[in-house]
Amino acid sequence: MSCPICKKDTVAKYRPFCSKRCADVDLGKWLSGDYALPSGDPEEAETAIDEISQHAPHLH
Ligand SMILES: [Zn+2]
Repeated sequence: MSCPICKKDTVAKYRPFCSKRCADVDLGKWLSGDYALPSGDPEEAETAIDEISQHAPHLH
């Protein structure tokens, strides 16, 4: 399996990514709407985004 961001080998600690950097990049993409939301329920998705935002204030 390879990192979906840069295609390098993944590291167990950061799976499915190769590093924290790539995990952050992915999170940023997700927050900016590049990715389809995992849930079809918009209210649930909003809650999920709120929770992620609280854990990653540097993305604001
Ligand atoms: Zn990577």
